[in-house]
Amino acid sequence: MTPGVRPLIAGNWKMHGLAADGLALARAVASGAAGLKAEVLLCPPATLIAPLAQALAGALALGGQDCHEAAKGAHTGDIAAAMLKDAGATYVILGHSERRMAYRETSHRVRAKAEAALAAGLIPVVCVGEPEDDRLLGRAEEVVAEQMTESLPEGFGTAGGVVAYEPVWAIGTGKIPTLSEIEEIHASIRELLHEYMDEEHANLVRIVYGGSCNATNAKSIFALPNVDGGLVGGASLQLDSIKEIIASI
Ligand code: PEP
Repeated sequence: MTPGVRPLIAGNWKMHGLAADGLALARAVASGAAGLKAEVLLCPPATLIAPLAQALAGALALGGQDCHEAAKGAHTGDIAAAMLKDAGATYVILGHSERRMAYRETSHRVRAKAEAALAAGLIPVVCVGEPEDDRLLGRAEEVVAEQMTESLPEGFGTAGGVVAYEPVWAIGTGKIPTLSEIEEIHASIRELLHEYMDEEHANLVRIVYGGSCNATNAKSIFALPNVDGGLVGGASLQLDSIKEIIASI
């Protein structure tokens, strides 16, 4: 944990959740969330942002899972940052590895999206993380550094931007890096932040860990220096697990 920083636990629901189940889960997560050490953020499917915003009335933060880099236009099926904001989101996840892989999103595109998010008043949660091959070749830090350099927009630190370190091979697989591997990469991300922004903001950017984070491993991961919370996929859909993860910080 970084001193002076309010940790963030973000749940990425991905493409899961219809209105009834999503509302019930969000309400249950919100009960008892007041006064917690961590800020809790739910990123449901875009269709649920507005109803959740209405039901939760600010008890939890809400975020989108992606946005387009354009403010509006002929982009069938896409969603603009201002639309997420209008629906009640304050954050947006960008550059998730599932999007980098399935839609060939480059880091340059992620940066354009992050610029659009900032312009709309949303806080970007920019995901970085190495594929397994790069980890095995000892190139994890290098890959992450390249993604950071190419993905982070100007003004990221002052806007409260969040970096999520998510090794691709750990997402949804039950595998996680060792604690010292997580510590090393998070330290290298912090170091890089100091190259991009002034010291105060570089120290305050939250760097969260994501990838098979669960109720069993969360406590030891969150105790590491420069780990300021988590981005949680699968376990954020189970009430007991997400509550335990939130309580582990
Ligand atoms: C994610 O997709 O952001 C994620 C961290 O997934 P999981 O926790 O299921 O590995």
